[in-house]
Amino acid sequence: MTESKSISLFEKAQTLMPGGVNSPVRAYRAVHRTPRFIKSANGSKITDADGNTYIDYVCTWGPALLGHAFPAVVKAVQKAAVKGLSYGAPTEGEVKLAHLVSSLMPPIQMLRLVSSGTEAVMSAIRVARGYTGRNKIIKFKGCYHGHSDSLLVKAGSAALTCASPDSAGVPKGCTQDTLVALYNDQESVKRLFEANKGEVAAIIVEPVAANMGVVLPQNGFLEFLRDITKREGSLLIFDEVITGFRLAPGGASERFGITPDLVTLGKIIGGGMPVGAYGGRREIMQQVSPLGSVYQAGTLSGNPVSVAAGLATLEYLASHKEIYSALEDKTNRLATAYRNAFGKQVCVNNIASLMSVFFTAKPVTNYETASSSDTERYAEYFNFMLDNGIYLAPSQFEAMFISAAHSDEDIEKTISTLQKFTQV
Ligand SMILES: *Cc1c(COP(=O)(O)O)cnc(C)c1O
Repeated sequence: MTESKSISLFEKAQTLMPGGVNSPVRAYRAVHRTPRFIKSANGSKITDADGNTYIDYVCTWGPALLGHAFPAVVKAVQKAAVKGLSYGAPTEGEVKLAHLVSSLMPPIQMLRLVSSGTEAVMSAIRVARGYTGRNKIIKFKGCYHGHSDSLLVKAGSAALTCASPDSAGVPKGCTQDTLVALYNDQESVKRLFEANKGEVAAIIVEPVAANMGVVLPQNGFLEFLRDITKREGSLLIFDEVITGFRLAPGGASERFGITPDLVTLGKIIGGGMPVGAYGGRREIMQQVSPLGSVYQAGTLSGNPVSVAAGLATLEYLASHKEIYSALEDKTNRLATAYRNAFGKQVCVNNIASLMSVFFTAKPVTNYETASSSDTERYAEYFNFMLDNGIYLAPSQFEAMFISAAHSDEDIEKTISTLQKFTQV
């Protein structure tokens, strides 16, 4: 397997972009390699500049639930593009997408489209503050909610791998109202409410944490968050940027049967194009300008090409709900094979089409236990899999994404490759 083109592109890229990349986790620093520069992707496969093809479990970090270049989505984008790329005016497509999102996710009675998950979360927090007239936000250690200032505290994703959970360039004033609790730890939440009576605008949570690796909510944890926020007059925000349309057509709120006040969306909702959304109870969303006094805007929000990709994706999902059980079966098969191959050396967490292999003997239930993982062992595993045609996240603290395009053959090849790794 040659990597000369990726290496020369990376050399040039490093002179032009920090770390040679446009988002830090792409830099492969944690696994001591050169990132693959990608030329194309189709279905479950991704091909690099040197012509190597891999089975892809990054799936563009989540959006490619249907696989890459899904024909109905590509066709919708092509059809939309020739009619103009952006109008800065409302369109029928936006109405259709908003209607579909709201019908798949009943907690969302009204929503706004934006262009990224970061924007969705930043806006939802502003609405929660505007609606409650309170400033403080509770987030969980190891949960990632995008890179906006007030949420870059004890964040997950690349902020974990880079060992800089608190970013430089974020003034103290921006995070002084961000309180950090521990995932799956009810007491830590109660203590924050007691110490900040009447001041907490909202709890924001990834209902399944997927940015410190995949960490499932323990029984009763999400119900507890629903109850305590209701009791304290605070809002519950589900950050479903990863879980939305993945855990079920209606996301985590459907899967766990919990109704949050606000939901943030990204990734799958754009089908590979830049789309995010935030929405929730009508009277809360009516606070948003021009109806209300919470300002939020976007030149390219709801642009017709992105909306076409999102709409084609969600329409397919809504009319093929059977793919969810097939996705979960595939993921269970992979997870079982990993448990058998590695035995007690690893903890495998999985739900729906999300999975993580933690190189630790401890059950991983929160940030502390996730951090007990042996990241050098992960790097060895990553390198072996990459060199054998399996493309994984270059970090212990990211999810494996399984798509509808992954075939039985892909799963078998992945399993036989990891069995080889455990035997070397
Ligand atoms: C990816 C992600 C975000 C940020 O979305 P971007 O589109 O990268 O800005 C926010 N929250 C969660 C849970 C995410 O996984």
